[in-house]
Amino acid sequence: MNNIAEQLSAAYQNIAENCAKLSRELASVQLIAVSKTKPVAAVISAYQAGQRQFGENYPQELVAKAEQLKDLSALEWHFIGPLQSNKTRLVAEHASWVHSIDRLKIAQRLSAQRPADLKPLQVLLQINISAEDSKAGIGADALPALAKAVADLPGLTLRGLMAIPAPGDSKRAFAAMQKLSENLRQQHPEATELSMGMSDDWPLALQYGATMIRLGTAIFGARTYERNE
Ligand SMILES: *Cc1c(COP(=O)(O)O)cnc(C)c1O
Repeated sequence: MNNIAEQLSAAYQNIAENCAKLSRELASVQLIAVSKTKPVAAVISAYQAGQRQFGENYPQELVAKAEQLKDLSALEWHFIGPLQSNKTRLVAEHASWVHSIDRLKIAQRLSAQRPADLKPLQVLLQINISAEDSKAGIGADALPALAKAVADLPGLTLRGLMAIPAPGDSKRAFAAMQKLSENLRQQHPEATELSMGMSDDWPLALQYGATMIRLGTAIFGARTYERNE
């Protein structure tokens, strides 16, 4: 087995053990393999090992990989990074999921640009749960209005929430997200997903109801560079 296959297998084993401890169904958790900055060959290795859900942060990088890998028909791309208006079309045409919706304008563009032959884009609203000035995401107070507006867009399906807590704030933030998610589902029953937890804090996220954990380093190793856009 190659390294990526081994790391994936170890991660799934670890997720299964955590689910067992929490009396959670293993099927209630999806691992999103975050392949940003990693070569297409790394994605292929993971796909050959059975991984189907992949996360990318940069629109151009997502499109480049999606085009090179379009023969891997079961592969689904999750866009998880900041999204500017002039890049929405790339994402609308190539992603299955977007985790980082925090403005109605972006949601409206994605909906209008979603090709009619694809199923609606599955979207999560990003919450700035640690209220950091520098971070993307809406405040919890803005959630009901944005959720309602997004749920009404024909090209999108509102599926839940996403957050990236500030360092040191994970426990409180994950608990707060679990509450927000429970409240949201009263109005929007299809919004069942809670995307939270990364390589260093995902077991804690699982304790607070995460349904999607986004793992980069744990699967593909350390990133040698970070891009900015
Ligand atoms: C890079 C990134 C991840 C993966 O982070 P790791 O710590 O490498 O697991 C997850 N979510 C988002 C939004 C990211 O940008």
